[in-house]
Amino acid sequence: MDSKERIAKALQLATDTKVFEMGQGVSSMAPAVFKDCFPGRKAVVVAGVNTWPVLGEKVYSLFLSAGIETQKYIIDKKEFHAEWKYVEMVDCLLDGNFQKAKEIEDSTDYVEPDAGKAFRPACDSYYVAVSVGSGVINDLCKLSSHHHSQSYLTLPTAASVDGYSSFGASISYQNSKQTFSCPAPLAIIADIDVIAAAPKKMTAAGYADLAAKIPAGAEWMIADLMGTEPIVPEAWHVLQDVIDQQLSNPEGTAKGDPQAVADLFEGLTLSGIAMQAARSSRPASCCDHLFSHILDMTHYRYNGELQSHGFQVAIGTLTMCAVFDEFFKMDLSQLDVDACVAAWPSLEQEQERALGIFKDFPAPKLGYTEITKKYNDAATVREQLTKVKENWPEFKEKLRAQVYPFTRMQALMKAAGAPSDPSDLGLTREQLRDMFPKVQLMRFRFNILDLAKRGGFYDSLVAAVFARGGAWEI
Ligand SMILES: [Zn+2]
Repeated sequence: MDSKERIAKALQLATDTKVFEMGQGVSSMAPAVFKDCFPGRKAVVVAGVNTWPVLGEKVYSLFLSAGIETQKYIIDKKEFHAEWKYVEMVDCLLDGNFQKAKEIEDSTDYVEPDAGKAFRPACDSYYVAVSVGSGVINDLCKLSSHHHSQSYLTLPTAASVDGYSSFGASISYQNSKQTFSCPAPLAIIADIDVIAAAPKKMTAAGYADLAAKIPAGAEWMIADLMGTEPIVPEAWHVLQDVIDQQLSNPEGTAKGDPQAVADLFEGLTLSGIAMQAARSSRPASCCDHLFSHILDMTHYRYNGELQSHGFQVAIGTLTMCAVFDEFFKMDLSQLDVDACVAAWPSLEQEQERALGIFKDFPAPKLGYTEITKKYNDAATVREQLTKVKENWPEFKEKLRAQVYPFTRMQALMKAAGAPSDPSDLGLTREQLRDMFPKVQLMRFRFNILDLAKRGGFYDSLVAAVFARGGAWEI
């Protein structure tokens, strides 16, 4: 199967995306695709200061020449994150209230309103968003379009994330990075001429975001065995059957070779489609992404700059490969299930532990909320551990076939130009180690650290990663 066939097949699974055009120069198709997908509607081209000259301006004039009533809006910030303020800004754009959008963008004392009140009744007079940019602009347009009960057209300018085709938008709201449920775009036009010419750091970030699906897949296998989130076969296969191939040319992506970048972009798109098919981000992220969420939520900067999603995820991904390396050294067929169950804490104890760990965090109740969702009683823990114990050698081999060893993943990251050591982000290994308790607790999703807590080997597992001979030896 070639790329075109794979995408065509994947689109049958996609619940939201119906049009996907990828190739050199395909952005010239944008007006025709728009007219087809949104007949009779007005468009607003939303771009950033960097993406306007690269593609936004061209798309805007193509739309005008095609006779589509079109406005433009250029977000006048060099650096901005996917925060609620900008969601409300795009909400106003789709309403047609451009002045209010600008006021919100420029406000310095912005107060977040109730997110639940952003929904409007459906109406044909709203503008339809034409997102021209990278992951952040796309996520803003995705959520705002959902608030207006409509879809949008996205023209990615970099292969930097898998969010173009994914279900859900990752937005900071009330100090917490959250995934808001919202449909993926109806149409994606990926002009490889533009995407391959994007800054090298952005392509490297996308490579790392795709590589994260390797350990994330293994953690989904664990959740599947635990019975908390069963694997959705079509969502699994659409991405995991081809991902090794799409990660196999990091040198090509680093050089900006159009074919290599197209392959990477295809992988990221399939990841998004897997999320559409699963109606969740489970196929694409687990602990590998949570390190990044901590950095986002604490507004972490290195050399004065916020670090990209993919660069942060690179370190999370490497760390999780290291965790799996140590996990595979364990013999869980010898697990003393009775002793583990006897030592299993109550929900109240876990909630108290979470409150302590997140005490000084921007979202102090986050751990409490999430552990409350994923806590299992002792009887369930007994079942879970028994399953692991009874299936250990075979299950371990299955996981091993999925996860890359740390050294292999590190070589790939290096070749792709992505971070390969925490110091590349200005992080010490101690800082990374200290994130683990939060990573375990900060999402409702069952992860390998939850298994380690249940089996009483959490401390030794984490310590091994940072011990002499470990991947991040301190
Ligand atoms: Zn990601």
